[in-house]
Amino acid sequence: MKFKSAYTVYFDNEEIGYIKNKDKFKKQLEEKLYDNQEENIAFSNAREEVSYKLKFIKKEEPIEEENTLVAIINKSDIMYVQYAVSVEGEEKCYFKTQEEAKKVQEELLKNFEETNIAVTEVYTKNLDIVSEEELATIGAQITNEINQKQKEERKKEEATISGIYLAINPVLGTITSRYASREAIRNHAHTGLDIAAKAGTDIKAVQDGIVTFAGTKGGYGNLIIIDHGNGIETYYGHCSKLYVKEQDNVKLGEVIGAVGSTGNSTGPHLHFEIRKDGEYVNPAKYLYK
Ligand SMILES: [Zn+2]
Repeated sequence: MKFKSAYTVYFDNEEIGYIKNKDKFKKQLEEKLYDNQEENIAFSNAREEVSYKLKFIKKEEPIEEENTLVAIINKSDIMYVQYAVSVEGEEKCYFKTQEEAKKVQEELLKNFEETNIAVTEVYTKNLDIVSEEELATIGAQITNEINQKQKEERKKEEATISGIYLAINPVLGTITSRYASREAIRNHAHTGLDIAAKAGTDIKAVQDGIVTFAGTKGGYGNLIIIDHGNGIETYYGHCSKLYVKEQDNVKLGEVIGAVGSTGNSTGPHLHFEIRKDGEYVNPAKYLYK
């Protein structure tokens, strides 16, 4: 039987394959992993993990240097250097070159002078390849994203009272009476918002809070009061059912009762009030927009 000499290549002590020329292989690996500006490789653990051992193998045993090289590269932890465009500190996209990133940054700054849009050098585990077409549309995509986010922030700001964000409408229905828009029988202005809905419709807590009242109270009929903190309370009147009791902690969106027509009411609807430090405020300023 005839033999030939070869090197066994190990990665982290695992046998990967045979090579003929160690120096040539090492050079190829260096070129691929360390000297390769084109590929944006910043560093890899291959230098530390790869080892070689001289061995005599059967002459007919194949030596597949290319496959061994590919296997080593695949096993290596590679970190790439890229250029990120970040908006208010959040990385939005990555590019191989600083020029590409700057192009997108400039496009965004045209629309958002006040926004912090930066290009930074970052290390990543994957290399993002952006095509020409993508590069042309990426600015517009991020523009939409920022616009959307700013819109949501404005909406949230508008629905916030004393730091309490009234995140959802308490029932789905039709507004039939607005705050102070009609004179009540005893010449009292309307203190809340009336939302007509089918009897039994879910009433939801507009934000987290503690139930401070759940029972019958005069013209309100079956009433739930939730204290949200910071002096903000919400009132849910004329309920047909109450699913919570005093001292219950309720979560935003939790079903607390059902629409009814108890108390001073002529048809099923929710009478919804917001109070700030005990004073009535107009709920339509915050909800049902
Ligand atoms: Zn009402």
